[in-house]
Amino acid sequence: MSRPTQAFIDRSALTHNLSIVRKYAPHSRVMAVVKADAYGHGLLQTAQALANVDGFALLELDAAINLREAGYQQPILLLEGFFSTQELALFERYRLSAVIHHPEQIAMLLASRHPQLNLFLKINTGMNRLGLRPEKVSEIIGQLQKNHCSKNITLMTHFASADDPSQHDSVIQQLQCFQQVVHTHAHPSSLANSAAIMCYPQSHADWVRPGIMLYGASPFTDRTAADLDLRPVMTLTSKIIAIHELKAGDKVGYHGLFQADCPMRIGIVACGYADGYPRHAPTNTPVLVNNQQSRLLGRISMDMLTVDLTNIQDVQVNSPVILWGKEISVDEVAQRAGTTSYELLCALAPRVEKIAC
Ligand SMILES: *Cc1c(COP(=O)(O)O)cnc(C)c1O
Repeated sequence: MSRPTQAFIDRSALTHNLSIVRKYAPHSRVMAVVKADAYGHGLLQTAQALANVDGFALLELDAAINLREAGYQQPILLLEGFFSTQELALFERYRLSAVIHHPEQIAMLLASRHPQLNLFLKINTGMNRLGLRPEKVSEIIGQLQKNHCSKNITLMTHFASADDPSQHDSVIQQLQCFQQVVHTHAHPSSLANSAAIMCYPQSHADWVRPGIMLYGASPFTDRTAADLDLRPVMTLTSKIIAIHELKAGDKVGYHGLFQADCPMRIGIVACGYADGYPRHAPTNTPVLVNNQQSRLLGRISMDMLTVDLTNIQDVQVNSPVILWGKEISVDEVAQRAGTTSYELLCALAPRVEKIAC
């Protein structure tokens, strides 16, 4: 038997979550964000479940080509655009759309013999990560049009804090900055990530760009995925591979980080940080064993973790374990480990078998 660590990908949850996006933004086209192997869920099986979205967005050129070769006809947007002139031939051949966020990329386009692309001009409205300076946008559009460098131009930006209600003002400032630039141009526009889709209807515009909500996790710290009617797509499972009885005073795992204060029963689970389970998850992080609520004990190892079996019924080697999924949300595990569901989902290791169901 092979190692029992597996991630089940629930395709009906993906389509459900897409329907929630459409409910929030009924007048926008939806560009499903499938970067990082669809946030760890597997690009092609995710795309299949989302086959009727209006577009896909990602950053990896090879993955974008795979998607096109798999037969998807929608726009496929590369969120960091191209990195060299050589890549432009591939953009043209596979009809890939490119984000332009830096004047250097415009120079590459002007120098290229393959310039007829769909372009998304990304404007820096305050996040100060990627984007053109707002006051340069008109000049750049003029330059692109004069040189016949694009088929279509869409204007876009990205919010720094749409997930944080205490930073409402910064979102409004970014929106106003964007509107000041776009109102003088007749181009379509795109602003909203998952958090903005759910909190800022005034940001929906022509294209919304949901990522995390499609995968059934919450971008907010104060609202769960269940509160938002999102269904978790990934269930990370494994099995108990060893059981031990402890006496009071016995220690568990590396550095004896957990010490039993009474007799206990513990189980070793075949899942560790090399599978993508967060090493910083502390004792008491919830785990489901044999469909019963249990908890982590001690330090996560590379390939294993330890759970408390003291009050778990009918448990033996091979009993099933759920690390996250429907009953235990990836958001909760992430919160315990001091990180976000984004990081946990896309850190799922390639050695974990992904099974679409
Ligand atoms: C990743 C990303 C998104 C999706 O963000 P979520 O918070 O996962 O919805 C949208 N737009 C851009 C530019 C991104 O890089």
